[in-house]
Amino acid sequence: MHLVNSYRVDANLTGLATAAIYAMHLCWEGSDMPSNFTPFYLYRQSAANYGDNNADGSNNLAASLKALSGAPLSDIEAKKLTAAKMMRPNTPDEALYMLRNFYRICCMIWGKATKISSSILDVTNHLTANHLIYDQVTQTDPNFPTKVVFIVNQAVQQVIRSALNAKDCSEVDWTALDFGFTLRQIQTRQFNCFLPKALHHQKRSSATTLPSSSSGKEPDEKQQQKKKQRKSDHDEKPKDRKKLATNTQDLPCARIKPNEKWDAIFPKGKVPPGIPKFNGSDSQCCTKYHTGGACNKADMCPRAKSHAALDEKTASKYCNYISECRKNASSS
Ligand SMILES: [Zn+2]
Repeated sequence: MHLVNSYRVDANLTGLATAAIYAMHLCWEGSDMPSNFTPFYLYRQSAANYGDNNADGSNNLAASLKALSGAPLSDIEAKKLTAAKMMRPNTPDEALYMLRNFYRICCMIWGKATKISSSILDVTNHLTANHLIYDQVTQTDPNFPTKVVFIVNQAVQQVIRSALNAKDCSEVDWTALDFGFTLRQIQTRQFNCFLPKALHHQKRSSATTLPSSSSGKEPDEKQQQKKKQRKSDHDEKPKDRKKLATNTQDLPCARIKPNEKWDAIFPKGKVPPGIPKFNGSDSQCCTKYHTGGACNKADMCPRAKSHAALDEKTASKYCNYISECRKNASSS
């Protein structure tokens, strides 16, 4: 492909990104979300899944691709071509990779010397020069690589949007592309920005998002309100992460087998009566722990006392009980 050869774009260019470029369909309504023209599509396989398929975007684009290309595509074919998943960078290297590809594509579209391209280059250069800082910040904030890609994405979107509305170049608002302040903040480890919920790292530690008023670009008021709304949504969520009591005892007869369904032992999730008592105590054995291998309630489990290795006698009783359950489940 031309893009790959001439511009050294090194990504599994998704159909969606390709089509976005092809159709020059570079942004759309949802101004707080990455659009179809975004570094989040220019990923390597190791990047984390962004989550849901941007279905709306992909449908929009499928339609315009079909109309613009004039190719005899069916709706289904066009949709297939534009189906893609956004990926989140897990590491500064992956962020760099996405941004480099984004830079190269911008070079292709607008040229190397343009403001968009050169400002993305500022960011990639900064990342290369301050790799250690990026690594360290990522260790405490797993969302950090995504945030870096996101601010670039948002800035480019903002400029494209402004350019679409402008009558000529002088009316375009280029200020978003000035990353100088943001980069200085990164250097002093003070940078932060809001991420859309969908872009968050799954094992997110408690929210560290701070108002982005200092990030160098002012989102409009409406957007900021939306963001505040989103933040408060987050705050209402219980912050205590679920603890897990994990069973390390090697007792295969007590355990669910690999690929075995919970239903094959406990139909409809119901645990039949007769669960053996734990190691001579009054407390019954926790089946999640001893059969499932881990109990998600941990200390809060009513049978938390049994979250420990079974003694020989209990192990034999428990294994008999489980094999009985299995037998009854298969005959019911
Ligand atoms: Zn339990």
